[in-house]
Amino acid sequence: MTTYPLEPGPEQMQELGQAALDWVTRFVEGLARAPSDGRSTATPSTATPSTGTQSPDPALREALLAEPREDPSEFGVLLALFGAAAAQAIETAGPAYLGYVPGGGLYVSALAEFLARGANRFTGLAATAPELAAMEYGVLRWLCRTFSLPQTAGGLITTGGSMATLSAIVAARHDRLGEDFSAGTLYLSARTHHSAAKAARIAGLPAAAVRVVPTTVDLRMDVAAASQMIAADRQAGRRPFLLVATAGSTDTGTIDPLGDLGRLAAREGLWFHVDGAYGGFFQLTRRGRAALSGVEAADSIVLDPHKGLFLPYGTGVLLVRDTAPLRAAHSGDGDDDGSYLQDLSGDHELPDFSALGPELSRDFRGLRVWLPLRMHGVGAFRAALDEKLDLAAHAHGDLARDPRLELPWPPDLSTVAFRLRRGDDDANLRFLDRINASGHVFSSSTRVGGRVLLRLCILSHRTHLVHVDQALQIIHAAAREQ
Ligand SMILES: *Cc1c(COP(=O)(O)O)cnc(C)c1O
Repeated sequence: MTTYPLEPGPEQMQELGQAALDWVTRFVEGLARAPSDGRSTATPSTATPSTGTQSPDPALREALLAEPREDPSEFGVLLALFGAAAAQAIETAGPAYLGYVPGGGLYVSALAEFLARGANRFTGLAATAPELAAMEYGVLRWLCRTFSLPQTAGGLITTGGSMATLSAIVAARHDRLGEDFSAGTLYLSARTHHSAAKAARIAGLPAAAVRVVPTTVDLRMDVAAASQMIAADRQAGRRPFLLVATAGSTDTGTIDPLGDLGRLAAREGLWFHVDGAYGGFFQLTRRGRAALSGVEAADSIVLDPHKGLFLPYGTGVLLVRDTAPLRAAHSGDGDDDGSYLQDLSGDHELPDFSALGPELSRDFRGLRVWLPLRMHGVGAFRAALDEKLDLAAHAHGDLARDPRLELPWPPDLSTVAFRLRRGDDDANLRFLDRINASGHVFSSSTRVGGRVLLRLCILSHRTHLVHVDQALQIIHAAAREQ
């Protein structure tokens, strides 16, 4: 009897699946005790504090880089290799990860991913799996309503904020400038995430088209300056077309004056884009909704479920006020969107996701958002986000009482920025090293106004008061060692 090795039988599938499930369960269980940076410890699953001195294992690297062999290998051996590779990492999934922008990674999303991949349905077009498209569309429709967008609104689940931003900028460019966009100019601030300028470049706009609007002392985009720059560009014969506001900057979590910027964009006929990749999901909370007031005027909004909904990396969202310009910007030339797809007639209630973004074939991203929202309920997410706001306020209050520390701005959301009061950039970078060398907290630094700034971004669903208090103790101790 012929056997096909690429098609494991039911018993083997159970066995492989169980081994993978065991690994994930042990991994998630171990996160509570994991050091914050597995790159610098020999036994990553124990509580051994990192020393920051050990170098990577060359034999492991060689095994991982090796070309695949002609013959099969044992799943268990390969799983162990994966485990060793995954351990050599900053512990982005653990409760002590307060660097960059954490998300944690929901277990139920990982299961959703397994199910979606197992079924392997095609969701680029609604007709090939209409009810799965409905699951994804339902999540998007709920998000549009959460941001009070009108009936014409819709969107797309992407692989992240950067891809969502790219589609937003392409839509804005196509809608406001048409085919010849050589005179177009867009407006952002020095605090805008670099994915916006990167998207502008990929969208064919020269670097000179990107205008960097100054910020006020509290790091928010200066509305009056933006207005003057737009007027000056018009005078010079340029075509201002896009205003990029940030609803929670990556560095300091600062929210631009969304209401005033939205009104400016409307008055000037500019596309109003709001980058909520970090801060957008705080809209689910009462305090966040108040802080994000004005976002409802956006022509497009970027969200990152792999940040504010705690999903594993690889899920972003683009919402648009009107799907028509998004569709127009992403259609192929003419009416021919691929004749080989002609047998698949559309379902008018559901969007064809491939018509709204650059991809045709794609993974079914809906389930990893749909399942946790339904299973845990929206209330669980609201409560977790509220907890992060409370923890950031607590951390800010606590650090502000330390005379050695300077806290230039109170947090708008869940990011707390601080630095040593006495000490230059080098002293602050050494301060960061001392904090992270504890192995019980991972913080990261940035530069604002040319000066080094340390930051705690509290956004993992696994980070609670006990972890933040431990981080605060470590920070106070590291400040005393200066
Ligand atoms: C993370 C982030 C992005 C980029 O999103 P990715 O999902 O990493 O591509 C854009 N803007 C802000 C404010 C972010 O925090």
